[in-house]
Amino acid sequence: MKNSGAHYVTACAVGCGAGLRDSGITLPEGPLRRCVECGQLLSSATEAQYLRSLGRFDNTAGTLPDATSQSRHDKNTARRLGKLAAALGRAPETIRLLDVGCSSGAFLRTACRLGYRAEGVEPSADAAQTARAAGLKVFTGYLEQAQFADATFDAITLIEIVEHLRDALGLMRECARILKPGGVVLVTTPNARSWTARAMGARWAGFSLNAMGGHISFFNPHSIAMLAARSGLAVHHIETRNVRFFERGQCSRGLHAAAKIAAELLNWPARLAGAGHDLHAYLRRPL
Ligand SMILES: [Zn+2]
Repeated sequence: MKNSGAHYVTACAVGCGAGLRDSGITLPEGPLRRCVECGQLLSSATEAQYLRSLGRFDNTAGTLPDATSQSRHDKNTARRLGKLAAALGRAPETIRLLDVGCSSGAFLRTACRLGYRAEGVEPSADAAQTARAAGLKVFTGYLEQAQFADATFDAITLIEIVEHLRDALGLMRECARILKPGGVVLVTTPNARSWTARAMGARWAGFSLNAMGGHISFFNPHSIAMLAARSGLAVHHIETRNVRFFERGQCSRGLHAAAKIAAELLNWPARLAGAGHDLHAYLRRPL
């Protein structure tokens, strides 16, 4: 892939005024640049490359899990929602929840089934329509376009969204505005400072613009905390989970099996070191 245009991302997505330096990690779109203040890694993709890559989930299926990953999806979603409810100290039935970038509604389906009063926003018209056809309440468009009133929601979820944005700070400030005082935002994103990312370098699947449908901004626990602070949110809890060297289908079955065993052994130490592959941040709007 040849990069012949200007960078789509020109400044740190976390809102730092500091400069960007070459990270030494070179992707097909060009080198990842590192914010000297928060360590965020930023893509060198052009706007055209970025927009092309976004097409991956812009369809009626969206991010619905396939049959083999449905039970894992349900289990992971239930665990995250349980932590949200615990952070709020409330029963699901009393929690008004907004899933931002809900795609075709996989997360919302589980949330509604568990009793949450959940709705979503989604810019892909096809994916949003799939969600509505399943009986879910979904606004088609970007969060700012939905124009929710101040202090509308008890909880907001951003599941694998912020890594797709060049202005994550703008989105988080809007989330903070529509969140009730005491409300909680859950942000999940790949951890660019994970052992997995460090071991794999440019081959880390999380860095792949096209395979991941537009990943351009790569967080670490520190940059997420800075994003929270600049949005007026307090860190309730940040955790990292899992070591994963290959995504399914990325390598031979034998290698995948061996990498999986190695990853299992490293899961707990990675979690203790804040170096797991998946970064989950629970952020609270102060009372
Ligand atoms: Zn930064």
